[in-house]
Amino acid sequence: MNAMTDGGASVRTTCPYCGVGCGVEARVQPDGSVKVVGDRSHPANFGRLCSKGSALGETLSLDDRLLHPEIGGARVSWAAALDSVAAAFSGAIAGHGPDSVAIYAAGQLLTEDYYVANKLMKGFIGSGNMDTNSRLCMASTVAGQKRAFGADVVPGTYEDLEQADVVVLVGSNLAWCHPVLFQRIEAARRKRPMTLVVVDPRATATSESADLHLAIAPDADVALFLGLLRWLDAGGFADRAWLAAHVGDARAALAAAASFDLDATARATDLSREAVAHFFDLFARNERVVTVFSQGVNQSVSGVDKVDAIINCHLLTGRIGRPGMGPFSVTGQPNAMGGREVGGLANMLAAHMDIEDARARDRVARFWNAPNVARRPGLKAVDLFDAVHDGRIRALWIISTNPVVSMPDADRVREAIARCPFVVVQDVSASTDTARLAHVLLPAAAWGEKDGVVTNSERRISRQRAFLAPPGEARPDWKIICDVARRMGFDGFDFDGPAAIFREHARLSAFENDGSRAFDIGAHADVSDAGYADLAPFRWPRRRDATTADRRLFGQGGFFTFDGRARMVATPYVAPRRADGRFTLNTGRIRDQWHTMTRSGKAARLMAHYAEPFCEIHPDDASRLGVAPAGLVELSNARGAVVLRALVTPRQRAGSVFAPMHWSDGFAGNARVDALVAPACDPLSGQPASKQSRCDVAPFRAAWHGFAVSAVRPDPREASYWALAPAEGGWRVELAGTADPDDWQAFAGRLFGGSDDLEWLAYRDAGKGIVRLAAFRGGQLVAALFVAREPVAVARAALIGELRRVGAGSLRGAVLAGRPGVDRPDPGALVCACFNVGVNEIRAAVADGRAASVEAVGELLKAGTNCGSCRVEIRKVIGEAGALETV
Ligand code: SF4
Repeated sequence: MNAMTDGGASVRTTCPYCGVGCGVEARVQPDGSVKVVGDRSHPANFGRLCSKGSALGETLSLDDRLLHPEIGGARVSWAAALDSVAAAFSGAIAGHGPDSVAIYAAGQLLTEDYYVANKLMKGFIGSGNMDTNSRLCMASTVAGQKRAFGADVVPGTYEDLEQADVVVLVGSNLAWCHPVLFQRIEAARRKRPMTLVVVDPRATATSESADLHLAIAPDADVALFLGLLRWLDAGGFADRAWLAAHVGDARAALAAAASFDLDATARATDLSREAVAHFFDLFARNERVVTVFSQGVNQSVSGVDKVDAIINCHLLTGRIGRPGMGPFSVTGQPNAMGGREVGGLANMLAAHMDIEDARARDRVARFWNAPNVARRPGLKAVDLFDAVHDGRIRALWIISTNPVVSMPDADRVREAIARCPFVVVQDVSASTDTARLAHVLLPAAAWGEKDGVVTNSERRISRQRAFLAPPGEARPDWKIICDVARRMGFDGFDFDGPAAIFREHARLSAFENDGSRAFDIGAHADVSDAGYADLAPFRWPRRRDATTADRRLFGQGGFFTFDGRARMVATPYVAPRRADGRFTLNTGRIRDQWHTMTRSGKAARLMAHYAEPFCEIHPDDASRLGVAPAGLVELSNARGAVVLRALVTPRQRAGSVFAPMHWSDGFAGNARVDALVAPACDPLSGQPASKQSRCDVAPFRAAWHGFAVSAVRPDPREASYWALAPAEGGWRVELAGTADPDDWQAFAGRLFGGSDDLEWLAYRDAGKGIVRLAAFRGGQLVAALFVAREPVAVARAALIGELRRVGAGSLRGAVLAGRPGVDRPDPGALVCACFNVGVNEIRAAVADGRAASVEAVGELLKAGTNCGSCRVEIRKVIGEAGALETV
């Protein structure tokens, strides 16, 4: 890595993971490594970071980096690669029209990257075919907020979550998916009374901290909030003066709720009447209520209605835009919001203007001096890949995302990309599942190597700053896009850096904006390069007069509709049909991983929490199907099949299973869960219902199970099931097979890439099917394989520890026994990723009386004292409320 900073100066930048948008300080160390700490001055996190943010410095290796442009797998010059892309796009447009090309990008891009990509596609190519993976994450909120507020606006701020008396989390595992925001709530709860309600079909780390968990039937959120709306109205909690002044006709919305009395709501949601009444009463009697919602709301065929059903309750009671109250969407990605600001979704134009608005098209055309502005919306993600599949899209540009893993019906998406006549992938990684299908690969600069801005969930725009030089020939995304645009013959792409793009973006936001458009950052339209370099985090809108800076919106009305009034939209409830006897497949994220693991999968400590893909299943379902705890389970439907580790737990509702969406073909043999997800979408937002697919579940019958550690990367592909993860000092891999290999030693040799200088120790019990092989070099363990008929019970963390004991020598007997030596206690499965504390260390501290509370464990072991995401798990260990289940 090449440092850009001298003398170890730290650089203030922003975390590239979730939509909390935490500020970080990165400092390049003398040895080239990078130390990352929280930025105490950043108003999103005030110095806090979660496990992912804390481990950022461990994800900056150049392993797997794409360093040079390639065509057909061969290295080429940048000029050749850019010419190739420009020619392919121009050729497709000339032969088949502008709608024969498409860009599919990501909420990982910086706003400046997004801006030029959107300008190229919608302004100059003249097609709306630019969509992004934000479609999978936020599109229902965008559509719901536009219906209700007239603009895609999150009204509140993070402070509201601390100032509320009741916080309702709907479809959000905030403790794992937005950990720092959750810790801000937890810190506030420790200081003052606050009631936390979680609405989620599944028990999670978040619900375990809640005062009330409503384990609602999947996809029944609209019914719950219709019931609440009726309750509020009938109970006299509507703010009639507010409604008269600031809200349109509420009658249709109330009529849709009319039949949802307490009994009907309880029936529709599969909740007890008492629990529903308790929730309604809490909401009704506390004015300061914030309703936070995330993917459990958005990723649904009724996602937009869910959003508006929530917003209706806040509009009816006038609880919006004032301290401690309001509907609050939390974004999944670091810059999903920035992408929306520039118009980076197929149905948007730019700066919060709509493609379908002729006046907006004319305004943008004049501003860009672009006579060929797209006249209609382009294809949304699912439709876009359908068009790739059937040949309507002939040239596809994929930027900074991995749709072969993350899109619904992922195998069909892979097939679509494979059959597309021209695919260019612009990315950081050389070997993503999608990059393998590209005709042209363009190496992009990564986090820490590029400059720009991102917007977090509370409309706060922060700088990402470079502190490393891009390796090889990698370039910033904005520059690659502008170079292609110029080669296609388009003017308007002569930017000399991201500051110039930001200025144009800010000018467009203010252009002919009399206050009727929410997004306006005109105050920064003339920012100098130096001012841009030093730009401090700020919330939009920030108009030239700056009177609207950093405040909540809608406290005094002022909605972005033609009459300034909000709309209460009727949201009729349609019960999902689940009469086929199959399981509901709920997909989601886990605490320490991010998207398809191309970055977070590099950090050994992030892989230690859950080292293999898993499926949560209720004990009754597991028992009925013959799925053993820690056994393997196959999930399948007409679209595909995956094999995952079974995590049998009452946290999961009977009839539903949960599986994380992170694992790609690079980390597991067959765990791309999105291959099973149906491409069913919300009809308004086009957002896929990634939490409600149907699937069958069956035990995966393995003849043998295995676990291995290796100092070098093993090649497990011979096994029927495998899941690979980096570990401190090497690698770990879980294995299973449907038939024994002829020769276990030969199998181990192929697995570990055997060499002649290894000394092998072996133990076998043919009758029990036990095989243990350990390879040493000079007394040091370099690889070990443990095989059994059942899932292998060995001290995994201790064995991984032996790989690290270079020079100390390994305890051969202990290694072969799969147990730690008496002087080397097994830390057990990881609980705290920030400080590498295992479950056995916490159990020991509790057992011998050194710690009896989460705080005491923190003082003793530091566990739980950084990001706090593991505090719930620590509490469980202390309480011994059931064994901590790990995989
Ligand atoms: Fe990054 Fe964690 Fe903050 Fe999200 S909560 S921005 S992942 S440090």
